[in-house]
Amino acid sequence: MFDLHKRLSILGATGSIGRQTLEVVRELNLSVEALTCNSNIMLLAEQILEFKPAAVSVGTAKLASELISLLQIKGLTKSEIPEIFTGKEGLVTAATMPGIDLVMAAIVGFSGLEPVLAALDSGYDVALANKETLVAGGPLVMDLASRNNARILPVDSEHSAIWQCLNAVPDYRFNKIFLTASGGPFRGFNSAELEKVTLSMALQHPTWNMGAKISIDSATMMNKGLEIIEACHLFSCRPEQIEVVVHPQSIIHSMVELEDGSVLAQLGFPDMRLPIRLAITWPERPPAAYHNAFDPFAPSASELSFERADESVFPAIGLARDAIKDGGLSPCILNAANEAAVKLFLEEKISFPEIWQIVAGEMAAKRTNITDPDYDILNFTHHDTIDRICERYL
Ligand code: NAD
Ligand code: MG
Repeated sequence: MFDLHKRLSILGATGSIGRQTLEVVRELNLSVEALTCNSNIMLLAEQILEFKPAAVSVGTAKLASELISLLQIKGLTKSEIPEIFTGKEGLVTAATMPGIDLVMAAIVGFSGLEPVLAALDSGYDVALANKETLVAGGPLVMDLASRNNARILPVDSEHSAIWQCLNAVPDYRFNKIFLTASGGPFRGFNSAELEKVTLSMALQHPTWNMGAKISIDSATMMNKGLEIIEACHLFSCRPEQIEVVVHPQSIIHSMVELEDGSVLAQLGFPDMRLPIRLAITWPERPPAAYHNAFDPFAPSASELSFERADESVFPAIGLARDAIKDGGLSPCILNAANEAAVKLFLEEKISFPEIWQIVAGEMAAKRTNITDPDYDILNFTHHDTIDRICERYL
């Protein structure tokens, strides 16, 4: 039998990855020590009732008092209400509580970096969905993990696939990664067609059901750019070793060419619960209660196809490659500019192609040459970049 009495802290519990993590928790009967969310206290209250965490954290003190009222209405007594923390400190508290076995990092964006660093500093393993933390602070995160003997377990489906393939090889030795991409909702569009893209069109992803930010990142293909940087850190490789392969069926979750020329792939119908579950149970692989049985004869699987990404129409991949080659603050600036641009697009203040124009503009205007930024410098650069971009659209 599998010993899976793991105690989890789930950062971003109300999001797409957070909710699916809780499905896995329910299935495997794991225990939850802490849950966090930014503002969805209605859902958080339901999660508290079911999973009974010792502590939770929400965005503001006002939300914390609303949460207490909500829990009282739902019949919880004072002693049954978990300890409630708030803001950035609350996230760090949730990530570093005593007695945790694993922190699930499922916050979206740079805000997840500080609690991830805090968890690693406490020696806790981190299941990492929050790719922006590795993009903005890759060297800091990887270095802290190795100094504290803490593991970073990939949750992003492509990185989980690569990791699963590489575990078949001593020392993770390989020539090349084929990073698969669905191509997003605008695969095959030309530049003129992309000018006319609306917000609701961009939020429709063909194969995955995800949070708003990553849905837009998939539409611009910045998601794949961020994933190139994520893979460079997780698997200690150069960006030239990573080839993006558009694979619209999303059946193959990525492939690795080994040094002897053999190519390994991990495949299955798209289901984020699988990489989430593997990051939690690793190195065990307990049988799954639900079963998304693979059928190679199903219409989506019987004909697998591969295309080159058109980088002249979708410039995000090239921008990300430039950022990681440049190093220093460049990936942090790329990420911050993208976060700001996606926010403006979600507020319908800019057009779809302006997302890339904003990111490219910030990259070109790089203002400093710091090579090994610490957290404070990253934090300053992130917020400074976002504020400057957003000011232009007030
Ligand atoms: P989401 O928007 O659905 O959920 C985000 C969660 O983070 C929510 O619980 C929200 O309350 C919390 N949050 C947001 N901003 C916060 C802030 N400033 N402070 C504290 N908490 C905050 O996002 P998601 O789709 O679950 O994605 C989460 C992360 O996982 C992202 O980095 C995304 O790129 C990555 N990821 C997601 C998927 C997917 O299928 N959804 C797949 C691979 C990777
Ligand atoms: Mg992915």
